[in-house]
Order: sequence, then structure tokens, then C-alpha cells
Amino acid sequence: MYSYERLLQENKAWAAGKLEGDPEYFNRLSRLQTPEFLWIGCSDSRVPANEITGTQPGEIFVHRNVANLVINTDVNLLSVLDYAVNHLGVKHVIVCGHYGCGGIKAATTKNDYKYLLNMWLRTIKDVYRIHRKKLDALENDEERNDLLVELNVQEQVQNLSKTSIIQRAWKQHKRPDLHGWVYGLKDGIIKPVFEMKAGTPIDPLYEYDSL
Ligand SMILES: [Zn+2]
Repeated sequence: MYSYERLLQENKAWAAGKLEGDPEYFNRLSRLQTPEFLWIGCSDSRVPANEITGTQPGEIFVHRNVANLVINTDVNLLSVLDYAVNHLGVKHVIVCGHYGCGGIKAATTKNDYKYLLNMWLRTIKDVYRIHRKKLDALENDEERNDLLVELNVQEQVQNLSKTSIIQRAWKQHKRPDLHGWVYGLKDGIIKPVFEMKAGTPIDPLYEYDSL
């Protein structure tokens, strides 16, 4: 048996198990999707949004990329954000990083990861530059990387607030609240590290006047 065949086999068992407990399970889910949360997480295979939050299919709208970045030219992320905020009406957007993130670690080295990865990781180097004083003050590599993970989440939440999508939703609907969380691979616990409630004032430089 090929490794991928196991996934298909497990899928059949999972679907059968769901039906056993609730014969209407898939009928109900296929008709309606009303998640309250948008999750922007890392692609890391050890941080599955539903599993670590004890939520079911249908409860969280998910976008994942390397090191959970919110980049203002990323059409993929912005489309997900637009759809989640304006069509699904999510009440909370969560950016969830994790300690021990390979993308964060990679960005602190001088390694040349070649064109695309260098481009992606540059954003994290910029986060480091903005917070250089705090980070350079830490001598322990692991502590410094942990702090960079937290500061990265904070910056990405702020990046969300700089989009006209969020600013318009705040003005018109008083939602969504923005949350910055960090998941611990070692203990499975999520730590909230930053928050911007709907309507939080932002740097006027990033404000739009015709929302
Ligand atoms: Zn990661």
C-alpha cells in the first residue's frame, strides 16, 4: 500500500464514523457554512487549526502560509480575508504563530534559500529590524526566536488593521476583533500575545478616508 492510500482509507473510516453518530452530519454541513472565526496560521503540519482548538468542520475558515504572514500584495490572503469578512461575516480574525517556527528561524540566518523563499522570508527580517533593540538584548537563541515569533504575530495583526477590508468592516459593522496567538509545540497550549478590538485606533498614515 502506498502511503497516500492510507489517507483515503482513513477518510472512509472517518466519514463512516461521523455518519454513525449523526446521519445528517454531511447533509447539514454541505448546505451551510457560517464560521465565526478566520484563522491565519502557519503551514507547519504540527499546527492544525481545528484539532488544537477542539473545533469541528464548519467552525473555522482557514488560511495558512509559511510563518503566518499578512502581506499587503498577497492576493491569496487578501481574497480569503475579503471573503471571510464581507461574505461570511466572521467576528474574529486570529493570526496564530507557533514557537519553534522553521520560517522564523530561517529568517534569522544568512542562508540563501534562493529566490522565492528569500522573498517570502524578507518580511520576517523586516519584523526583526523594527524590533531589533528588544531582540538583540536577548542572548539565548531560543528565547530570541520565541520573542520574534510573538512580535511577528503582533506585526501581522497590525498589518490586517492596515487593510481597507478591515477598516471598512470596523466602521460599518464594528467587527471583526483581531487576535494574535502563539501555539506551543512543546505543551500544546495557545498563548494570546496581542489583540486589536474592532475600532482600535491605528497609525493615521495607514487610514483610509472613503470607507
Ligand atoms: Zn511555522
